[in-house]
Amino acid sequence: MLESNVLVLNRLWQPVNITSARSAVGLLYCGRVRALDENYSAHDWNEWVGLPPASGSNGDVLHSVSLNIRIPRVVQLLIYDRTPHVNIKFTRANIYLRDKYRCQYCGRSGKSADLNIDHMIPRSRGGSSDWENVVVACVPCNRRKGNQLPEEVGMRPARVPRRPRWQPVISLSQATRPHPQWRPFLEITYQP
Ligand SMILES: [Zn+2]
Repeated sequence: MLESNVLVLNRLWQPVNITSARSAVGLLYCGRVRALDENYSAHDWNEWVGLPPASGSNGDVLHSVSLNIRIPRVVQLLIYDRTPHVNIKFTRANIYLRDKYRCQYCGRSGKSADLNIDHMIPRSRGGSSDWENVVVACVPCNRRKGNQLPEEVGMRPARVPRRPRWQPVISLSQATRPHPQWRPFLEITYQP
């Protein structure tokens, strides 16, 4: 039970990590996080240990010598600065997630098979493979743009591409089976 998974949110309620119940309880004790109950009310350590046991799948309790501590399912970091340091891997899947599976030129959304990664400055013209130079593009837009610069074809991405500031959630859901209490937070950012 101490190894069961706990979703970690940042102060903007965005999922940034998954940690073990052991670590979440430790963070709660140290005042680094608040724990969310089944009604999504946030509690500090003193409030949390005073809560009555929860029912159903939220009902796991950690027994120690003097306390019965509910296992939190979701905790929220209190210190904003803790979260942007997560180093997000530059991968195809994470680029799709950042751009929400949507062509940044025409706005069409699709499955990964219908989408490509477009280098705004083409690699053949010195463009680099990094967060600031790639966007998701549908196959027709990618083909139309070809080997040209955005301004040469009048194709501008909807948003200036940047390094994402939060951990894309798909890597979380791949890592583990999400607890039902995580669902509202996953839906905020996970839109395949
Ligand atoms: Zn397109």
